[in-house]
Amino acid sequence: MQNSLGETVRPNIFPRMKRLLWFGATLLTTLSVWGAFDRPSQNERLSALGNLYEESDILRRLLTSSDDFSPIRLPGPNDWLSQHHEDGETFEQYKNSEPNRPDSIRRVLYLLPLGRFPEEASPPLEDIRAYAAAYFQLETRILPAYLPTDEQFVPRQNRHTGQRQVLATSVLEFLKTRLPADAYCLLGVTMEDLYPAPSWNYVFGQASLGERVGVYSFVRYDPAFWDEERGKDYRDVILRRSCKVLAHETGHMFGLQHCIFYDCVLNGSNHLVEADSRPQQLCPLCLRKLHYAGNFDAVKRYEQLREFYRKHGWFEDADWVERQLAKLQSP
Ligand SMILES: [Zn+2]
Ligand SMILES: [Zn+2]
Repeated sequence: MQNSLGETVRPNIFPRMKRLLWFGATLLTTLSVWGAFDRPSQNERLSALGNLYEESDILRRLLTSSDDFSPIRLPGPNDWLSQHHEDGETFEQYKNSEPNRPDSIRRVLYLLPLGRFPEEASPPLEDIRAYAAAYFQLETRILPAYLPTDEQFVPRQNRHTGQRQVLATSVLEFLKTRLPADAYCLLGVTMEDLYPAPSWNYVFGQASLGERVGVYSFVRYDPAFWDEERGKDYRDVILRRSCKVLAHETGHMFGLQHCIFYDCVLNGSNHLVEADSRPQQLCPLCLRKLHYAGNFDAVKRYEQLREFYRKHGWFEDADWVERQLAKLQSP
């Protein structure tokens, strides 16, 4: 799919039960393993990070490697990097790619809810908005919901799960017609399941970077989608997963490619278990890239994220951010 990022897609050839679909997919795709992932060395990680003396003293401290930034873990046989060859992208390569950057005109991140968000199965959109605003340091607005007709966006019944799905590329075409003049990007969010093309099973999200539109579905983050029991914290699980996919996919809207250097929210994920194991945070390389694009106050960003994490009881993440800010206190 040219000029778009189809994430975590699976051919439509797997068993009927949703849980089996999962394992069936990974088993079959294992047959096409490209080869072992060659994990970058410490020198390669530092070299990808580039010359931090080009940055301010404060940012340089925040970007300096520490125990809080782990080298990327080795992938299991069904994980993303066992099945997709990625070269990784250094900071210099990112800069040379001339990524989209917010400017004085295109400076607002818009979220457009598509369809209904049933309270018991959806992340609260105001929380998603607040997270995006803190994470990307852009004004973030929620547009009035658009309620598509039942026939819109090329719906189909997934023949294995029996679930209704809509065609992501059709949604992207629609979003292009709704792009506000001051939009840095327009992100459609939906509780409809998505598929990227007729021969594929599903997709979590898809984006067209050049045209600054993307669509993400949150429907697969509810344990009930997988016929699993909802624990008493399941709404928090849905919110965490939704925030993480928003951070990952919106990172792509800033031109960030998948990260192969550190454990990072920008690591590719082949399945939900792998996505759940990824950190909520950007590694120093990806933070340096995002900062290059957004030129924001990195301290303010961490302070706002810490507040968000505390408010939601995500204390490990709050403590992690706290340790980043503590780097500014040392002599
Ligand atoms: Zn991705
Ligand atoms: Zn990274």
